[in-house]
Formats: sequence, structure tokens, C-alpha cells
Amino acid sequence: MTPFKVQILGCGSALPTTMHNPSSQLVDVNGKLFMIDCGEGTQLQMRKLGVRMGRLHSIFISHLHGDHVFGLPGLISSLGLLGRTAELTIYAHQEIEQFLTPFLNFFCKNLSYNVRLVLLKRKGYNLIYENKSITISSFPLKHRIATSGFLFKETEKLRHIKREMIDYYDIPIREINNIKNGADFITAKGEVVPNDRLTSPPSPQRSYAYCSDTAYDESIVPHIKGVDLLYHEATFSESEIERTAKTGHSTARQAAEIAKLAEVKKLVIGHFSSRYKNLNPLLEEAKAVFDNTELAEEGKIFEL
Ligand SMILES: [Zn+2]
Ligand SMILES: [Zn+2]
Repeated sequence: MTPFKVQILGCGSALPTTMHNPSSQLVDVNGKLFMIDCGEGTQLQMRKLGVRMGRLHSIFISHLHGDHVFGLPGLISSLGLLGRTAELTIYAHQEIEQFLTPFLNFFCKNLSYNVRLVLLKRKGYNLIYENKSITISSFPLKHRIATSGFLFKETEKLRHIKREMIDYYDIPIREINNIKNGADFITAKGEVVPNDRLTSPPSPQRSYAYCSDTAYDESIVPHIKGVDLLYHEATFSESEIERTAKTGHSTARQAAEIAKLAEVKKLVIGHFSSRYKNLNPLLEEAKAVFDNTELAEEGKIFEL
């Protein structure tokens, strides 16, 4: 199966701690690395975890709060020092221009590669990137400023051709791809062999959804319905419910409620407030609603 995995680089929230790095993660699809958010120290996390920076394809920024973007200047600069030549696309809300353009003008006049900014739409579900393995879409989250969640979904796969049928009907190699795409096979004698006799259905399309930062918001459920893995922020526990509402965040229980409503296969919670030295109460709170929940942790890899 094509590699499709998510590695956590940082799962803390705004205030720095020695336990967590601020938000960042890497989605590896077939060897290409897509970064989501880039909090302070992200490039050091990549170094510590042995990630080759040259594999970085593009960056998706959920919103322009510092704990999601302060790592960009250092990373952009280092990629130049490493001799990158491929264009780097950063998908983000419009405010990125005010943050990044002065930095690029001041520090990056002779950068070895081009940084291209693609602005996200504030409303609706929008396809923002696709290649032959994956589509990436954005959808609005409910936070204090314009914020987007991201859905990574495998493209539709080909049907599996049955080995024994190739031999039985002596199917030539040039026909194999057509059959995988759903075509029937016509034998030398003119007999039509229907496709469903020759093939079995394709493997299901795997998908990953990233939802941080956000208040409890049921309107995201249709976008993340049935995903294999959902990362949802759980900044606080229920004991901080007022603070949670005021800051546009979610509790661990609320993250689990969303996972349950969306019937996802697995939930990972993160974006932990610096007040929690022990995260088990957050995990227990989420598990009481949605059992297949795991805590995010720096370095952890989730295979889909
Ligand atoms: Zn944040
Ligand atoms: Zn935020």
C-alpha cells in the first residue's frame, strides 16, 4: 500500500513549555511531505526526528496565530541555505502577506528558490491541491480569526485485477490498465467478459482530517465524515469550559463528541494548554465519549 502517515512535530498551544513544541505536523503521502502549521522550533524538530528537509513539498497554515507560524522564517531561511531550488508553496489565509512579505523582502532577497503564497478562502469546502495520489481540501473552523481545517484524501484507486483471470483468459498486458479502470474484456472469439468477473473493488480511499484551532462546531462534521484519522484540538478539559468558549478552543470531551458524530475511525487530540503537566485526565475525558482516542506526542507517527 502507498505510504500515508502523519508525524506530530508539535502539539502544544500558545505558551512554550519544555514538554511540547507548538503546532506542526508532517503528512507523508508516497514520500512527499506536506507540512501543516509551522510553530516556533519546527525546523529543529525536523532535525531531531531525522526528517530530510529536502523532502518538504508544501506548507498548509491553518491560521495566523503565532503558535502556528513563528517557525516559518527560520525554516524558509534554512531551506535556502540547504540549496533548495524547487518552488515552495504556502497555503494560508490572507494575513500571511502582512507577516511573511516584509521578512522575505528583508532577509530573502537572494533566496535560491521562490516562495509562492496561495490564499485560502474563508468560506466553504474548497479543493486546494491535487496530484495522482492525494487531494487536499480546506474548510472553515470556528476560531477567533479566519481559520481552516484540512482534509487529505487519497484519490480514487483502480480496481484489483484477479491474477487467475489474466491467465485463464490470456489477457494481454496492454489491456490490464483498461480493465483496472472498469472496462470489460473481449476475447479473440468475440466473447465479452464483464469487468466484475475479472476484478475486485478497489481498496477504500484513506483520509486524514486536521482541525486546530477550533471551538466545538458541528458544521465541520460533513467534511470529516468517516475519516480514518482525525486530529482535533483539545486545549482544555471540561473544568475550563468557560475559558474554552472565550478563547475559541475545544475541550477533550468536545473533540470526542465531534469524532463520534463524524463516525471517524480514530481520534488524536492535541494543542494542549501549558497548564497540563499530566495529559491522562484529558485522554480519559475524551475516551469516555469516543474510545479510540490517542494523545498526540512529539515524534509520534500515525500510519493510515
Ligand atoms: Zn493555536
Ligand atoms: Zn489559534
